[in-house]
Amino acid sequence: MITSRISLNGGSRTIASIAQNHAAILESVVAACARVDRSPEEVTVIAVSKTVGPAQIAEAVAAGIHDFGENRTSLLKQRQELFPSESWHFIGRIQTNKIRDIVGRATLVHSVASQRALQAISVRAREIDVVQKLLIEVNVSGEASKDGVTPEQLLELLDLATQMKHIAICGLMTIAPQGDESATRRTFNGLRTLRDRYAPRYEGCPSVNLCELSMGMTEDYVLAVEEGATILRIGRGLWFDPTLLDDPA
Ligand SMILES: *Cc1c(COP(=O)(O)O)cnc(C)c1O
Repeated sequence: MITSRISLNGGSRTIASIAQNHAAILESVVAACARVDRSPEEVTVIAVSKTVGPAQIAEAVAAGIHDFGENRTSLLKQRQELFPSESWHFIGRIQTNKIRDIVGRATLVHSVASQRALQAISVRAREIDVVQKLLIEVNVSGEASKDGVTPEQLLELLDLATQMKHIAICGLMTIAPQGDESATRRTFNGLRTLRDRYAPRYEGCPSVNLCELSMGMTEDYVLAVEEGATILRIGRGLWFDPTLLDDPA
């Protein structure tokens, strides 16, 4: 769902610019949804704030953004404490020795990519008596440089999760290869196909529900929406003038 309210007038130049970038992103999400007959209500934009400081986060909040993503545990903790009314998503590699700073703090953990991580989250969630929502990260493209489980490992993880009362798997996440549109689309389509194939197996299971597809970043979020994304993780395109994005720096 797109709940953010946009105010284009008023505020400093930076607020106007974040708000304008946000408005432009939401506009292209709406257009992409129309092309494939989806409702824009199904799509949530998360502001990935790993490259900006608290001042810009405050400006984003003022511009109506309330979902943020961090890929480092230390920043997740700091910023969730600084902005406790906002939703904080953890999108980075999970180190099991940092699990205490994630569980119960992250609205949604996007990047669970091993049995070890899943088990550690489950144990900690039971300890503090919460149900931790999470996604399983899948390496759809098979690139060696990407985190994420294989489709076969995915099934094992989901089966394991059916036994866990303190976790709720809400869907799948992936990162697409950059720079090749057809490979990007194939990756997003692959994640959706996996979801469609496995979802019926867990029907009625309280701890596994594969509704959410977290896929799409600044470079490729339009393709992701066309391929069924429900959560977009957008950093640079939100914070910086989009016309500067072609600059390799
Ligand atoms: C940094 C990051 C993003 C955002 O990337 P942009 O290209 O800046 O939009 C999305 N997902 C993950 C996992 C990231 O680490």
